Amino acid sequence: MIDLRSDTVTRPTAAMLDAMFRAPVGDDVYEEDPTVRELEHEAARRFGLEAGLFCPSGTMTNQIAIKAHTEPLSEVVCEQTSHIYLWEVGGIAFHSGASVALLPGDRGRLTAAQVAGAIRSENIHYPTTSLISLENTHNRGGGSCYSWEALTDIAELAKRQGIPLHLDGARIFNALVATGQQSQEYGRLFDTISVCLSKGLGTPVGSVLLGPAAFIKKCKRIRKVMGGGWRQAGYLAAAGLYALEHHVARLADDHRRARQLAEALQAAPYVDFVLPAETNLVIFRLRDGLSEDQFLQHLAANDIKASAFGPQMVRFVTHLDVDDAAIAQVLKALQSVQAA
Ligand SMILES: *Cc1c(COP(=O)(O)O)cnc(C)c1O
Repeated sequence: MIDLRSDTVTRPTAAMLDAMFRAPVGDDVYEEDPTVRELEHEAARRFGLEAGLFCPSGTMTNQIAIKAHTEPLSEVVCEQTSHIYLWEVGGIAFHSGASVALLPGDRGRLTAAQVAGAIRSENIHYPTTSLISLENTHNRGGGSCYSWEALTDIAELAKRQGIPLHLDGARIFNALVATGQQSQEYGRLFDTISVCLSKGLGTPVGSVLLGPAAFIKKCKRIRKVMGGGWRQAGYLAAAGLYALEHHVARLADDHRRARQLAEALQAAPYVDFVLPAETNLVIFRLRDGLSEDQFLQHLAANDIKASAFGPQMVRFVTHLDVDDAAIAQVLKALQSVQAA
């Protein structure tokens, strides 16, 4: 089976498993797991931030950050298809009792002018704007990347207004590899960053939340009340450390393979449009006459899995477990699609 549904489906490599087996561990609730500490420290260092908090999922790192940044009667500014709003079970309302100001992005990306327009003025009828949250790469936007200029414009606005800026960096390494931006510089723009290790980096479990030391200390209490205090998590942290070392540069291969798929789809008579494939996500629309179900059934008959992404919409994701031979097999299956 070739699984293009998500970059979360990867299995640890033999070398990653070996690093996990050999990890020194301890009880992380007692702050005695050296491998967790090393991962938190190393991830924070890479992004020019002070401290890190290792968590089971990116949903948890995002929601902890939002909870720690906001309070009830306040509001989070984000894009209308952002993961924190669309795919985290309404967690902003549930955990934080905060409102959301939703903005329509260009493939998920906001501009400083849009964000400025959403910041609430002082008025008893309004919630107060407590957080601005961006997503890079943007999932629903087809793995789109922010330009450095757009990010700095928004960061300068946030600083001027005294509003914290959070980054949902589930796929931040894809953005760094695709654009050549430097991770170190991100810490100057963002107050907090959530980084997923279980997407393109290919670990079985885990995300890290990065930020100032005092803020991360507050976040640790929130992780605890969510039931996220864990024990010998060093076995999982070891996979993260291994991935930071060995699985970042290779993301360029995933991007090259995604472009190959995008080009073939672009040329296919049954495809209406393909979003620009900047990184490892390829989102496309099928022409009327071929439903996403029919298309996915054809792929399944060729041992390929992919995700429906709305009416007529499909998403392909390239990752560690999709090699050139797999891409060749997908390209072959795309040629034999019969549109009605
Ligand atoms: C996957 C993802 C997350 C976190 O997902 P988990 O499955 O909870 O780890 C957050 N943001 C974006 C943009 C994602 O794609």
